[in-house]
Amino acid sequence: MGQNRADRGELMGSRAASTAVGVMTTEEAVSRLFPAHVLEMIKQEDAARYPRPDKEALAAFGSDEKCRAYLEQLRWPEGVRCPRCDADKGISRLERRGQFDCNSCSYQFSVRVGTVLQDSQLPLWKWVLAVFVMAESEEGISANQLKQVLGVSYKTAWYLSHRIRFSMKNEAPEDLHAAVEYDRLVPDERVHPDTLGHLLAAQVAESEEAAHPDMVWTALQRSLSASYYHLSAKHLPAYVDEVAYRYKNRDNAFLLRDMLLRLIGAESISYTELVAGT
Ligand SMILES: [Zn+2]
Repeated sequence: MGQNRADRGELMGSRAASTAVGVMTTEEAVSRLFPAHVLEMIKQEDAARYPRPDKEALAAFGSDEKCRAYLEQLRWPEGVRCPRCDADKGISRLERRGQFDCNSCSYQFSVRVGTVLQDSQLPLWKWVLAVFVMAESEEGISANQLKQVLGVSYKTAWYLSHRIRFSMKNEAPEDLHAAVEYDRLVPDERVHPDTLGHLLAAQVAESEEAAHPDMVWTALQRSLSASYYHLSAKHLPAYVDEVAYRYKNRDNAFLLRDMLLRLIGAESISYTELVAGT
């Protein structure tokens, strides 16, 4: 397809490499993907007030290439397969573009193809860092915080956080959703989180269906009042799913990996779909 030989490399040893990647804990993975001082900054209690990640340091550390390789190994643990014809042999790497070329059907693709990352222009390191920030945060993170931490626009941060949250959907048990009467809880389009937390507590107290540990509800209320400033009824089930997911994974040392796996396996949701009816 016009690339010269020097631009191509046969894929070797991906199986062995991916095994190592699959068992790396969150801590091990991020320390390989990002410079230490960037992680230090992110882990500060009030990360949003610190300077944004130093793009040059991230580039010098090779973060984008490392994140790409990490995602490739998570997506194709048995070796790269063509998303179009499913061939697992005769796939060449096009180094300069971070893409692959399938000899069988001539399709050129990257790790983003067919995932929620496909239509995104954001560098992969911003995606991975956003997932890490969301994974690390005990109470969830608002789009405003994410905007500060990543140095992106509010719109981008909002979209990013919703897409990541979307990958946690269907995590809350059905009866947990049933116990939250969304329509009654949020009669208008927007409601102050404090009010919401209060209403939620009252509703849970009177609900006989709420056979869940109090901690889930406490976590939900705390999340809602700590992080989410503009909450609409439409997105509330997604927040409940997020809190349930966090609660279930509170001791998961592989949370970054698991969230990324969901992200690259999740179906795409467009910005238009997200904002419709908000
Ligand atoms: Zn193919």
